[in-house]
Amino acid sequence: MASALGMLRQVCGSLSRSRAAVRCLCSRAAAEAHHDVIRPAFPPLQSFSEEESMMRDAVKKFAQERIAPFVSKMDEDSVMDADVISALFEQGLMGIEIGAEYGGTGSSFFSSILVIEELAKVDPSVSVLCDIQNTLINTLLTNLGTEEQKQHYLPRLASDTVGSFCLSESESGSDAFSLKTKAEKHKDYYIINGSKMWISNAEHAGVFLVMANAEPAAGYRGITCFIVDRHTDGLHIGRKENKLGLRASSTCPLTFDNMKVHEKNILGKVGHGYKYAIGMLNGGRIGIAAQMLGLAQGCFDHTVPYTRQRVQFGKRIFDFQGMQHQIAHVATQLEAARLLTYNAARLKEAGRSFIKEACMAKYFSAEVATLTTSKCIEWMGGVGFTKDYPIEKYYRDCKIGAIYEGTTNIQLSTMAKMIDQEYDG
Ligand SMILES: Cc1cc2nc3c(=O)[nH]c(=O)nc-3n(C[C@H](O)[C@H](O)[C@H](O)COP(=O)(O)OP(=O)(O)OC[C@H]3O[C@@H](n4cnc5c(N)ncnc54)[C@H](O)[C@@H]3O)c2cc1C
Repeated sequence: MASALGMLRQVCGSLSRSRAAVRCLCSRAAAEAHHDVIRPAFPPLQSFSEEESMMRDAVKKFAQERIAPFVSKMDEDSVMDADVISALFEQGLMGIEIGAEYGGTGSSFFSSILVIEELAKVDPSVSVLCDIQNTLINTLLTNLGTEEQKQHYLPRLASDTVGSFCLSESESGSDAFSLKTKAEKHKDYYIINGSKMWISNAEHAGVFLVMANAEPAAGYRGITCFIVDRHTDGLHIGRKENKLGLRASSTCPLTFDNMKVHEKNILGKVGHGYKYAIGMLNGGRIGIAAQMLGLAQGCFDHTVPYTRQRVQFGKRIFDFQGMQHQIAHVATQLEAARLLTYNAARLKEAGRSFIKEACMAKYFSAEVATLTTSKCIEWMGGVGFTKDYPIEKYYRDCKIGAIYEGTTNIQLSTMAKMIDQEYDG
């Protein structure tokens, strides 16, 4: 009995010491909260490291100064301004996680997410350029490239070369791994024939990561990732699509006509392309969630000040309770989308399971972007429906969130599959 009591006292003692330590950490965290700096307690999800805060603030300023003046014209002309692309490279925003030894910024996945969000507040087209480069292209090459491939491609991707991710085909969208593009082996090279659809940034890309089947008899287990330079013979980049939204972001079909690619340009292992694509898109979805979140927040930030100035019936339209309840509801949805997105990003960064959470973040943020942009047009009245304000553009741009990197139905199906597994005996 005595020893049991002793043990209890010991446990309580150590518990109270831990509580005191936690209290101490909490008060320190509270004292430091206004700096938004992460300390080793359980910080709120919207806390950032010093580096993340600096990155976010710098990108916010950069986007206002170097992108905002061109947004409307780029949308109108359906062209990404070359100076905007150069500026992204200059600022180190196209190689955020690439190590300094390869000329990259050497920052984190979470920083990429903050950058994608900040850029999308100003222009979702610029945001997706940066998103695909960082979350798909650079990550694939960093994780799977041989040292020779990394030495050759990473410094270029960090400094002046846009990359495109080529998975979808006209007959294989959601069912991506039924792709028909074939790679036939000859000595030490492959001959690739087939085509791709919907390839973002293809107009400016210098390098393409192409998924082709090198062993069709093995089904999707033959899918292999090839690194293809823009000027490779047999690669044809088609006319870009005339789209509803994201008009400044080029989306092109590609055809491969007896395109010869050396085997040293295989990324990773033959037949593992489907695994790489799934892995990358899981993380990439957090990027799209951040894009949708930034888009929605940017639209909201343009609209609320208008409601505080516009007077009808002798008062600000913001002062009508009918308006206030809607605005507060949308603000809550935005907060929830942000928490889902940041949580998925933190889980990924911590090396924990994040697939379900990434699907949730993408699905929900796309829904919130649709709700927010639609409401913002209504809150602005007639002027919201014109091109004199940027609201109608956000409304057009948001629609892609429910389509690319896995449609909303595909996100929901993946979540449901995982939920089902969670309840297995
Ligand atoms: C602007 C833009 C940029 C893109 N960028 C790229 C890129 O850079 N690289 C790339 O490889 N691809 C890219 N894509 C392609 C994109 O990923 C596909 O469009 C997307 O995966 C959907 O495929 P799909 O268009 O063939 O639609 P489909 O697969 O034909 O889907 C049509 C509808 O059917 C539903 N559906 C399909 N299967 C199921 C199912 N099993 N259960 C329930 N519903 C289902 C879908 O949810 C959708 O509502 C881009 C697309 C666009 C529009």
